[in-house]
Amino acid sequence: MPPVVDRPLFFLDYDGTLAPIVDDPSAAVPHPDIPDLLRRLEAQHPLWIVTGRDIEALSQFLDRPYRAIGLHGAQEGTVGGEARQLLPEEAVRALRRLRTSVPALEGLQVEEKNQTFAVHYRAVDDEEAAREQLADWLADLPDALDAVWGKKVVELRPAGLTKGTAVERIAGEHPDATPVYLGDDTTDEDAFESLQALDRAAVTVKVGEGTTSASHRLAGPDAVADYLRRYL
Ligand SMILES: [Mg+2]
Repeated sequence: MPPVVDRPLFFLDYDGTLAPIVDDPSAAVPHPDIPDLLRRLEAQHPLWIVTGRDIEALSQFLDRPYRAIGLHGAQEGTVGGEARQLLPEEAVRALRRLRTSVPALEGLQVEEKNQTFAVHYRAVDDEEAAREQLADWLADLPDALDAVWGKKVVELRPAGLTKGTAVERIAGEHPDATPVYLGDDTTDEDAFESLQALDRAAVTVKVGEGTTSASHRLAGPDAVADYLRRYL
């Protein structure tokens, strides 16, 4: 069993950690003890839910406005409330510049997405030419942005944001607390590594099997509930 620390700062991954993995993600209800445990833990300690999903998706499973990290670290907000993508200043500046310089081409459609945008070219006359023009327009993209090409669309997204960058930032806001991170995903490894690199104690817990850089391990959501109960 991982140690129980005095002033925990909880980071709890949702799928596979607080809720058993199921085939249908929309049926991933939390372990039966979890809703009550979370409510009581949150009354005493800072607590963040972590997920690869859009935070909004968690509101079907959790009935309180827990703070949350979504999209594997690229989003921050509250369950059932506001959520915003995290954009470094460099990305914000580049998005502003790109938004005002979208190629003036008949048929191009800009889709606004919460702080970022996508450009669709399915309605242009010459798709090949449009694609080339868009590629030129995006030629000197800063590291803070990714251009993701889809079906007749290119979308701009923040790059380099992970569960690791998220927990590092939040841990910095709680200098006297000990981060306690429980997760089962490969993307949780970024968080384990970031927390271990901090110049302070942290409890990192891999849930389930598989290689990990976490310092402790719990078998699954039952064991997670047993461990969390020790903080009450
Ligand atoms: Mg998970």
